[in-house]
Amino acid sequence: MALTGVEIFKLLPKTNCKKCGFPTCLAFAMKLAQRQASLDLCPDVSEEAKQKLGEASAPPVRPITFGVGNKAIKMGEETVLFRHDKKFVNPCAFALEIKDSLSDDEIITRVEEILNSEIERVGQKLRVDAIALINDSNDAARLEAAAKLIVAKAHEMPLIICASSPQAAEASLRLYADKKPIICGANSENAELMADIAKTYNAILGITATASGGLDEISNITEKVKALGVTDMVIDPGARKAKEILEQNTLIRRAAIKKNFKPLGYPIITFAQREDGLKEALIAAIGIAKYSSIIVLSSIEKWKNLALFTLRQNIYTDPQVPMQVEQKIYKLGEPTSESPLLITTNFSLTYFIVSGEIENSKVPGYLAVMDCEGLSVLTAWAAGKFTASKIAQFIKESGVENEIKHRELIIPGYVAILSGAIEDKLEGWKITVGPREANGIPAFLKSRAA
Ligand code: SF4
Repeated sequence: MALTGVEIFKLLPKTNCKKCGFPTCLAFAMKLAQRQASLDLCPDVSEEAKQKLGEASAPPVRPITFGVGNKAIKMGEETVLFRHDKKFVNPCAFALEIKDSLSDDEIITRVEEILNSEIERVGQKLRVDAIALINDSNDAARLEAAAKLIVAKAHEMPLIICASSPQAAEASLRLYADKKPIICGANSENAELMADIAKTYNAILGITATASGGLDEISNITEKVKALGVTDMVIDPGARKAKEILEQNTLIRRAAIKKNFKPLGYPIITFAQREDGLKEALIAAIGIAKYSSIIVLSSIEKWKNLALFTLRQNIYTDPQVPMQVEQKIYKLGEPTSESPLLITTNFSLTYFIVSGEIENSKVPGYLAVMDCEGLSVLTAWAAGKFTASKIAQFIKESGVENEIKHRELIIPGYVAILSGAIEDKLEGWKITVGPREANGIPAFLKSRAA
């Protein structure tokens, strides 16, 4: 049962010492009640209060780490329903399914596909994060052999083993005992056996409902498994159609966040596999937007990765904090003292698009990136942050005059109106108006270099 802010306040030291970063114990208590702060921030809280508050202040979706080492995936810990209330914490992971009925060569090829799936977008490295090994053969020995192939090729890659037979699950799990895998397939019939295996091999247990059992069935199993001593679980509500996934995932998250309903307070795994790649991408998109922590895919073509990675990145950024890059003069290619100098703002997306187009032009250059609090060019100009005097001051202080012999600055076409005013403020400089859109930069730079 969730405690109110006042009930929490009664358990705090009430010294208003501010060590937690809040002005008063009451303010901190209110944040705890909204699950927007962690009890660890108060160093003086008593052991008795810790015990009482521990459960109440724990995140409504249990934090769980899947896998170990550099590739470990953090899941859960979410505290809100909508990202405009507060940033979503842990981005969902993508897992590629590998059926154990594939040949050894096919399995190795798919593992290599995953290992090579990384792309870079706006400064972040994005990739397929895990493997979901499916016991399609229904043969324990084949599942174990497939797990062996995978661990030999990608020993750090987090693994989900999907098997409803506890014997098959255990045989393959032995290979992953120290790697915190997920074992998916615990249901109302095998829950005790699966819980035993998960405890023995320190695995996360995936709870699966039958299509008709739904959330009641899931809650019953998670409570039963918890009573058997397994604390880390992921839940598969059994939904496979788009409408059901949206509905079930929303009900689960609402129950966890709004009602603090612990039996559903676990990360959700969504099986999105479809024969039609486009439909699969759409199902996965629902999972990204609506609360899945792991999404299992049947294939990872580049177009699909790019679309899904981009959506995930957008959903899991903080909408209240624009993504920014550092203010400085960036060298693109190997510029000389004669190379062109362009200027833009420090909104990440703007920077990566503009710098990407300069690189595409194959004309080495300097890109002056000015701190405009992460706003794009037009917004920064409208907000008075990308003005002639601020641009002139930045260029003078940047030291770029020591790098280049010429005195020409290329400004974005959208702020052509500033050219005269900048020339007035930057004595001896010529201001050239560049293209309005970044995709015009290659042709613009090439025509000048010709
Ligand atoms: S650190 Fe603890 S005692 Fe100090 S103000 Fe915060 S809640 Fe109160």
